[in-house]
Amino acid sequence: MFADLVLVDGNVITMDSSKPTAQALAIKKDRIVKVGTNNQINSLVGNSTKVINLQGKSVVPGFIDSHIHVADFGKFLTWLDLTAVTSIKELQAKLREHAQNIPKNRWIIGNGWDQACFAEKRYPDLHDLNEASPDNPVILYHQCGRVCVVNSKALDLAGVTNKTFSPLGGTLEKDPKTGELTGILRENATDLVWKTIPEPSNQELIESASLACKKIVASGITSIHWIVSSANEIKVIQSLASQNKLPLRVHIIAPATLLNQLDSLNSLLGSGDNSTRLLGFKIFVDGSLAARTAALTQPYLDQQSTTGQLLYSQEELDSLVAKAHKAHLGLVIHAMGDKAINMALTAIEKVLMDKPKTNHRYRIEHASVLNKELISRIKKLGMIISIQPKCALSEFLVWSAVERLGNSRARLLYPLKTLVNEGIRIIGGSDCPMEPLSPLLGMQAAVTRPFFPEEQLTVDEALRMYTINAAYASCDDAIKGSIEEGKLADLAVLSGDPRTSASSKIGEIKVAMTLVSGKVVYQNLP
Ligand SMILES: [Zn+2]
Repeated sequence: MFADLVLVDGNVITMDSSKPTAQALAIKKDRIVKVGTNNQINSLVGNSTKVINLQGKSVVPGFIDSHIHVADFGKFLTWLDLTAVTSIKELQAKLREHAQNIPKNRWIIGNGWDQACFAEKRYPDLHDLNEASPDNPVILYHQCGRVCVVNSKALDLAGVTNKTFSPLGGTLEKDPKTGELTGILRENATDLVWKTIPEPSNQELIESASLACKKIVASGITSIHWIVSSANEIKVIQSLASQNKLPLRVHIIAPATLLNQLDSLNSLLGSGDNSTRLLGFKIFVDGSLAARTAALTQPYLDQQSTTGQLLYSQEELDSLVAKAHKAHLGLVIHAMGDKAINMALTAIEKVLMDKPKTNHRYRIEHASVLNKELISRIKKLGMIISIQPKCALSEFLVWSAVERLGNSRARLLYPLKTLVNEGIRIIGGSDCPMEPLSPLLGMQAAVTRPFFPEEQLTVDEALRMYTINAAYASCDDAIKGSIEEGKLADLAVLSGDPRTSASSKIGEIKVAMTLVSGKVVYQNLP
């Protein structure tokens, strides 16, 4: 037997403990057929075998992002990026070019400008925008997100005129001499225009999600757990699948509201190596720590009047969980506060006591505020914990988890190492577009977290979060998540080895190639 494709002269990081590293591997059809030395692999090279010499590059199992909002990411990608713009002239040029490539009347949304960086040292105004884009409504957000500039077409569509009063908590800026609108809207006034922008059409959603998928595979990701927010988004995924616009494996996490529409979802319930399929339902038990809506047993330290917010009673949650459990569906329970995590575990304990299921892949999303008692119940139940390491870092960097929770609760906020030491499976995700997409940046965050550094992971442990553990979470650990003979040829080729690079530089490693089912879906080789 000859291989279809071989990768030789590489540093293969297999995540298979019986054979942790290798030089080369061979692929036939969609599978890895041999992992070994250059000599062993070269014996499988026939006349029609494609040979790629990796020149020392590293190969890892294709990354799996367990938590990504692809539709939002896609919408974000269609925005005009103005972060590097250094003059109003340059902003106009970007706007003009963008407008040329889209239909008349379609909204142009942009963000990231900062007048302090402009050569003209002034705010852009509606005349600047009208000049560059007279036929498309335009709204461009300042990098702070609370100020925007719009053109006349956008103001017309929003019904805002020189006579319109500023809304409460916002300002419609006017020229003090002429009383005319300048196009600059501040705070709540930005909503006057923002709310008139129509929801994207399905065709636009398909285009932007397709763009997102291209970016995703360019990050070395070969499977995603796509967090879906509506039934319509599932239709978008189906359209992408039928048009062959999904270059990677897609596992859908549907909103709990769709638990009542199982019949219409039946077509997604099937399984298969490569097919798009339903992974489970996401139930939100509470909110977020950033908004102080994560449900805590003790009050927030920096706002003693609140303990957050539960979105269900225990009985309501029990019945939702029981419904999914009985129907053999996956469960993804969003719970950030210790009170919410306790409720989630209680509901799972009840269904498993009632109707045991040893091979479940039930998971808690985030599971931020933990304690010893919750950790021991998580372990006993075999729950998977889904963590986005970049988000975990933001809880300390963007605002202070220590001030908000106090030292002892912050100590067990996303306690990665403690969970690993307990033998609990943790899986990694990006939460893109809230946080950057790159799994290598996520790994770097898990390995270098400066807050409670005793919870730092080793590179191998971090890599497991994005490979074999995440494959387990979708019941696919027998066919992917490590580089082993017989498994799917889902691979990422990296410019460097995350295990030997400086831990603070892991995020700088480049993805040179991504393969899904043995096919190259992304390539950036010199
Ligand atoms: Zn999310």
